[in-house]
Amino acid sequence: MAFAITQTCCNDATCVAVCPVNCIHPTPDERAFGSTEMLYVDPKTCIDCGACADACPVDAILPVDSLTGGQREYADINAAYFEQSSDASDAADLGPNFHDWGKPTFARVLPPDFRPLRVAIVGTGPAGMYAAEDLLLHTRSEVTLVDRLPVAGGLVRYGVAPDHPATKKMGDAFARFYTHPRVRMHLGLEVGAHVTAEELAAHHDAVIYAVGAATDRRLGIPGEDRTGSISATTFVAWYNAHPEVAPDAVDLSAERVVVVGNGNVALDVARILVSDPETLADTEIAGHALEALRRSKVREVVLLGRRGPEHAAYTRSELLALKHLPEVDLLVDEHDAQIGATIDAAGPTEKAAVLRGVAREAVDWSVPPGVAGRRRRIVFRFHSTPVEVCGENEDIRAVRVTGGGGELEIPAGMALRAIGYRGVPLAGLPFDEVTGTVPHEGGRVTGRPGTYVVGWIKRGPSGGIGANRTCAAETVGTLLADAVADALPAPTGGPKAFHRLARRRRR
Ligand code: NAP
Repeated sequence: MAFAITQTCCNDATCVAVCPVNCIHPTPDERAFGSTEMLYVDPKTCIDCGACADACPVDAILPVDSLTGGQREYADINAAYFEQSSDASDAADLGPNFHDWGKPTFARVLPPDFRPLRVAIVGTGPAGMYAAEDLLLHTRSEVTLVDRLPVAGGLVRYGVAPDHPATKKMGDAFARFYTHPRVRMHLGLEVGAHVTAEELAAHHDAVIYAVGAATDRRLGIPGEDRTGSISATTFVAWYNAHPEVAPDAVDLSAERVVVVGNGNVALDVARILVSDPETLADTEIAGHALEALRRSKVREVVLLGRRGPEHAAYTRSELLALKHLPEVDLLVDEHDAQIGATIDAAGPTEKAAVLRGVAREAVDWSVPPGVAGRRRRIVFRFHSTPVEVCGENEDIRAVRVTGGGGELEIPAGMALRAIGYRGVPLAGLPFDEVTGTVPHEGGRVTGRPGTYVVGWIKRGPSGGIGANRTCAAETVGTLLADAVADALPAPTGGPKAFHRLARRRRR
C-alpha cells in the first residue's frame, strides 16, 4: 500500500518536510515546484508511515486502499507523475500557476545578536498568514496583524467554496497564530481610511502588504453592467456571507446561466449553481445563499472558454471532481470538430483528457434548459468569446459569442464573469496598471525601503492557497536580509502607541 495526494492538495509542501524518505515531489528545491497543479507521492518509494497525512493541513493525503468514488483516480494520478521523465512533467505542468521565484528558504539563519523586529502585516488571508507564520516560528519578531474586515481569513474565509471544507480547514491552521503571544490583531481597521500607510510604517520596523487582488477583471463588452450580469467575485462573496455583499445581491430566477471563463473560480460557481442545495446544508454556506439556492430556477450552466479544452485554466483535480457531482450531467458542446479531436488526442496526463467520457453533442440552444426529463447540467462551450450581454433595458436575454463558426446568441437570464481577479492601487505605493500588482524586488516594494508585498498583490492573481507559502518565504527572506544589512528605516513610535492610535481611530 502507499499514500496518495488527492483533490484538495494545497501545494504548501508541509508534507514534504515530514516525509522521511523524500517520496513527495516536486519538493521546494525542484524546478517544477510552484508550477504543478498539486504534489504527488511516489508509490514505489512511499513506506506507508502516514507522517505526510498527519501533517497535511487540508486532509488531502490518504492511504490508496481507503480511496473511494472519484478519489480512486488519484492513485494513478500520483503514480503517473513519476512515470514521466522529469523534463516532461515540468513542461506539461508549466501553466497559469507557474511563478518564477528563487529557491525558497524555510530555515532562517540569523546573526546571534539579531534584535526582534516589529512587523505589521496588512491582510489576514493565506499570504499574510504564511508571512506571519514564518516570522513567528523562525524569528522573535512581534507581528501586528491588520485587516479591514471584521473577520480574519481573507480568501480562506470569503473565497473558498463551502463544499470544499478540507480547504477551508486551512483557516484553522492560520487561526492558531491570531492568539500567539507576539501577535496583536486589529480587525475592522482599514489602512488608508482609519490609519495612514505612513502612520503604520512609523510604528514598525517593516510593513508587509498582503492585500490580495481586491477587485475583478472586466470584459469591456456592451451590456456587461445589466442587472444579472455580475462578477463571480460577487457571487462567491455572496455565498460566503461577505459583509459587503447584500443577501439579495444574487437573483437565481433564470434557467440558464452563462459563466465566462474556464478557471477554478468558474468551476466553483458552476458547481454551486447546479449542486443539490441539501448537500450544502451542513457546510458554512451563508444562510441567505442556501435559501436562494433551494428556490433557484437554474437548470443549466454554460461554461464559456475562449480557447480550447487543452488551454483551460482550471486544474485537472477540480474538473475530475465535477465529473462526480451527483445528479448533474456534463456535456461538451461539439459545435466545432476540433474540440472533440483535441479531447480524443490528449495524452493521459493532459487536461483535455479529463473530458474523455463526457457526453458530446452540438447543442441546440433554442431548446429551453428546463425541458422535461433533463437533469441539471453543465455545458462546456469552448472556442467562444463573449462580445455582448444582450437584453432589454436591465434584463438579460442572451450572451452573444463569437468564434469557430461565427456569431451566436446563447439565451440566458444571468451572466457571471469569472475571468480573474485584479489588484487595486495602494495609497503611496507604486502600481503596475498592466499586471495590477505592486512592483518589487524579491518582495521589497521598489523604491520603498521597509515596505514589502506578498501574495496576489505581489505576483498577480494566480495560484492556490499553498503557493503563498513559497511566496511568503521569499518576501520574509528579503525583509530579514534587509534587517541584517541595517537597511530598514528606523520607526519613530512603537507598536503600543500604534495599538492606542488604532483603537482611537476605529471608534
Ligand atoms: P484564472 O485561473 O486566471 O482563470 C481565468 C479564466 O478567464 C481563464 O480561462 C481565462 O482564459 C479567462 N478569461 C480571461 N479574460 C477573458 C476574457 N476577456 N474573455 C473570456 N475569458 C477570459 O482565474 P480564476 O479562476 O479567478 O482563479 C484564480 C486563481 O485561484 C487560480 O490560480 C485558481 O487555480 C485559484 N483557485 C483555486 C481554486 C481551487 O483549487 N479549488 C478555487 C478557486 C480559485 P485564457 O486562459 O484564455 O486567458
